[in-house]
Amino acid sequence: MIDLHTHTTASDGTDSPFALVNKALSAGITTLAITDHDTTSGWSEAISALRSPMSLVLGAEISTLTSDGISVHMLGLLFDGENLEMQKMLAESRDTRLPRMRKMIELLAADGIAITMEDVMAAAPDGATVGRPHLADALVKNGVVATRDEAFVDLLHNDSKYYVTHVAPTPESAIACIKKAGGVAIIAHPFASRRGETISTASFSTLVNAGLDGIEVNHRDQSMDERKQLTQIADELGLVKTGSSDYHGNGKLNSLGENLTDPAQWERLESLANQRRVVKP
Ligand code: AMP
Ligand code: ZN
Ligand code: FE
Ligand code: FE
Repeated sequence: MIDLHTHTTASDGTDSPFALVNKALSAGITTLAITDHDTTSGWSEAISALRSPMSLVLGAEISTLTSDGISVHMLGLLFDGENLEMQKMLAESRDTRLPRMRKMIELLAADGIAITMEDVMAAAPDGATVGRPHLADALVKNGVVATRDEAFVDLLHNDSKYYVTHVAPTPESAIACIKKAGGVAIIAHPFASRRGETISTASFSTLVNAGLDGIEVNHRDQSMDERKQLTQIADELGLVKTGSSDYHGNGKLNSLGENLTDPAQWERLESLANQRRVVKP
């Protein structure tokens, strides 16, 4: 069972990397990728928790923005964590998330919604990449909404008047950075239309020219029709197709292994990295 996209307390998941690895072992996952938003800070704890028979794939989910302002998440797997350009790109993204969060809070507070930056920082684990789910948790704590999910229906949705983007690289430059660091680049949930505007079918060829290796097809936020369209695009462009849970712990309904990657697809993807970097126990 191969699950190539999960989050921990290093970003907006609610399980520590240690807990994630143990839960994945219990769930029967044999290959697990840890892909926190814009950070590799959970890697070492995940490695220390690793036990047979599971293998660990180290990665990150990089937030990017197209020149048209469409939000695109790019999964980078199997890259060299010591690569300076990669770490610089990730650090810049994390830094700009703070002024962005302050702006969202200003907009919410101006409309009379009870929330401060201190509330959000208290909701985020130490050192975590700060994101909207932490803002959602603070809104739950303040009694504004009942759950994380409810916060995203309206207040924190990409189309909300309170939504602010942070400075982010383009999808093409994120792909280039992942590839330079020796890894593989997979576009995450590209047709998750319920989250907001998505990129067009035509734009995939530009990403392929930049070095894109794969498309995340099987993901809960994509309808069967959206998955069918992505399968066709992947097959036409010769891209690897992946599936994953996008597990976030108890902050989201996603359960570990709910969507999986086919072993043959994974084998091909792994061979596209410049080194064998899968961590074995
Ligand atoms: P951010 O990186 O701060 O923009 O927050 C993005 C994260 O918010 C995603 O990784 C998801 O965990 C969560 N998220 C985004 N859209 C939704 C949604 N419609 N429903 C629930 N969670 C969402
Ligand atoms: Zn997330
Ligand atoms: Fe994502
Ligand atoms: Fe994710």
